Amino acid sequence: MAERPRVYKTEGIILRRRNLGEADSIFTVLSAHEGKFDAIAKGVRKTRSRMRGHLEPLTRSRLLLARGRSLDVFTQAETVAPYRAIRDDLERSATAIYCAELADRFTIEHAENPGLYELLLAALEALDGGSPPGAVARYFELHLLSLMGYELQLDACAACRGRLEPVETLLSANAGGLVCERCRAKAGAGRLLGVRAMKVLRYARNVDIGAFGEVRLDQALAKELEGAMAEVISHFLEREPRARRFLEIVAALPGRENALAPGIVESEQGP
Ligand SMILES: [Zn+2]
Repeated sequence: MAERPRVYKTEGIILRRRNLGEADSIFTVLSAHEGKFDAIAKGVRKTRSRMRGHLEPLTRSRLLLARGRSLDVFTQAETVAPYRAIRDDLERSATAIYCAELADRFTIEHAENPGLYELLLAALEALDGGSPPGAVARYFELHLLSLMGYELQLDACAACRGRLEPVETLLSANAGGLVCERCRAKAGAGRLLGVRAMKVLRYARNVDIGAFGEVRLDQALAKELEGAMAEVISHFLEREPRARRFLEIVAALPGRENALAPGIVESEQGP
């Protein structure tokens, strides 16, 4: 068997950081070809560390790593995209943290998923480029589910495959999508979606994230979609994403122009 090279290059998005000892940090990275992995950056918390700025959570970086006995070790890091517009806006930051958390929690280590990498990249680019955060989050949730094998059935009843009428319809994670009126009682928990919300979800499935960001959602419709998708995500994750609480706090703030303190992006705990 050929020996794996001791040093390798990859490009990735930093999902989160946790500190180790006095000066080291472990970073969780979602990469294009190596899947998700943890690696250690030695001395990165020292002020003189050259890697420090290139390993901030939510940064897209080119990475050079050395294979380690348990954890691989970063030897070089170079920022490809710092996403400054995300960092400068609390709502965009909170949404990006939420997407990164979902990407982290829905995956296992070293399972290659280029589609997920592309999706997270597209979400960060859209947030950085000014797309509405709510639309980015809904798009991300819907496509993440598809990539993870939980694609929601939106065209026919998820239980009986029967036709869906253009009326208020139950979205049930347990059933795997929209459920017709006859199947509603046995479908389990879910949220009733209006016709407009159903159309928005179908549209999100069929266009790219940039086009979806152009859709104007009024507040009631945005709330309806947010609540319904939150329930679906929690069902498959079997827990509440931690970042959702942060999103709620941000949404309740009167002004949203405050810059994000760097510490808020950090996560000290594992999943
Ligand atoms: Zn049915």
